[in-house]
Amino acid sequence: MTKGTPSFGQKNQGKTHIRCRRCGKRAYNVRHKYCAACGYGRSPRLREYRWRQPYYLRYRIFYRRYWKVPSVRKFT
Ligand SMILES: [Zn+2]
Repeated sequence: MTKGTPSFGQKNQGKTHIRCRRCGKRAYNVRHKYCAACGYGRSPRLREYRWRQPYYLRYRIFYRRYWKVPSVRKFT
């Protein structure tokens, strides 16, 4: 086997993650026996973090014109 790019293809054998029983994603680690997406096997609670959701949902700030870009500009 030669060194370099062709031999890196050998790394793609074997599974690290299989389909999770709880959340259904392919994130259940076979070796460590926990799910990387929902934390199944590590904790009875669902794995969730506040940084996953956007800022305005985190602090419940809803700006009135959040999605609207002002069309009229005032130069005077
Ligand atoms: Zn899961």
